[in-house]
Amino acid sequence: MPDKMQSVLVIDDDPIVLDIVKTIFNGEIQIEGVSGGKEGIEVACATMPDLILLDVRMPDIDGYETIKRLKDMPETADIPVVFLTARTETQDEFTGLDLGAIDYISKPIIPQIVKVRINNHLTQKMQRDQLSNMSMIDGLTGIANRRRFDDFLDQEIRRAARNDYTVSLLMLDIDNFKNYNDTHGHQAGDDCLKMVAAEIQNHSRRPSDLVARFGGEEFAVILPDTALEPAMDLAEKIRSGISALGIQHASGEAANHVTISIGVAALDGKSVIDVTTLIAAADKALFGAKNAGRNRVLKAGD
Ligand code: GH3
Ligand code: MG
Ligand code: MG
Repeated sequence: MPDKMQSVLVIDDDPIVLDIVKTIFNGEIQIEGVSGGKEGIEVACATMPDLILLDVRMPDIDGYETIKRLKDMPETADIPVVFLTARTETQDEFTGLDLGAIDYISKPIIPQIVKVRINNHLTQKMQRDQLSNMSMIDGLTGIANRRRFDDFLDQEIRRAARNDYTVSLLMLDIDNFKNYNDTHGHQAGDDCLKMVAAEIQNHSRRPSDLVARFGGEEFAVILPDTALEPAMDLAEKIRSGISALGIQHASGEAANHVTISIGVAALDGKSVIDVTTLIAAADKALFGAKNAGRNRVLKAGD
C-alpha cells in the first residue's frame, strides 16, 4: 500500500485555529480548514479526512449538530472527530463525547498536547484502516472481496442518487471453468483466477472504479459516474484482453484458451431501483452472454 499522507479537516469559524494547527504540524500531515458545520460535512464527504477537529460554537450549525450528521451518514460515521473548543464545562465535554467524539480538547490550545493527542488518534486510525483493508481483500487474487463489493456498491448507489450520476456494473464469469479445473488441475485453476483478476484490474484504471471477486470464478467491476456505453467499451476491452492472455484451455467450448463472459447494467441517479435489482440486471445479461455462446459482452435488456 502506498504511504499516503494522513489528512485532518479543521471545522472552526475562528481562522486562527487552522493557522495554529498548521503551525503545530508543519507540513507533516495534510490539513484543510472550513469555517462552518455544513461546509465541513460536505468537505468531509468529498475528501474523507482521517480525522476531524471540530469547534462547538459556530454561526451556521454548531459542532454538536455537525457531529450528529457526520455520525448519521455511513460514509462519514467512522471518521474520528475530536472537539477543540473553548467550552470547558463538564456537561459540554460529556455532550461531545456522548455524541461519538473520540476526544475533547479545551482551548486555549497547548501545541505539544494537541500534537501528541492528534498523532495518537491518527496512528489508531491508520491501524484500523489497515485491518479493515485486510478484511476486505480476497486472499487468492488480492483484489476486493465480496464484502467490500457489497459495501462499495451500496455506498456508490447512494452517492449517485445524491449527485445524480450513473453507476455501471459489470458481472464477469470465466467460461467453462469447471472443465478447466478438471483438465488442468485446481492449482492451475487458482493461477488462472489470479491472472484473470490482474487483467481485469489492469483495464479499470480510474481510482474510483472497484474490481472485486464476487465469488468462485465470478468477478464484478463497479464504475461510478460511468454511463452504459463507456461501460460496454471497457467490458469489451477486458473480454479481448483476457482472450489475448492466451491461457491454454484444452476443454474450452468457446475457444482453446481461457475466455470470459460479461453482463453490463447501468443505474442512473434518478431511478429508484436498488442494489439487488442492479446486480440482477447485470447477472441476467451475463446469463444471456453465456447462452449466446460465451466469450462475449451483453448489456441488460439485450
Ligand atoms: P460457465 O461457462 O457456464 O460459467 O461454466 P463454468 O464451468 O465456468 O461454471 P460452473 O459454475 O459450473 O463452475 C465453476 C467452477 O469454478 C467450479 C469450481 O470448481 C471452480 N472454482 C470456483 N472457485 C474456485 C477457486 O477458488 N479455485 C479454483 N481452482 N476453482 C474454483
Ligand atoms: Mg463460469
Ligand atoms: Mg459461475
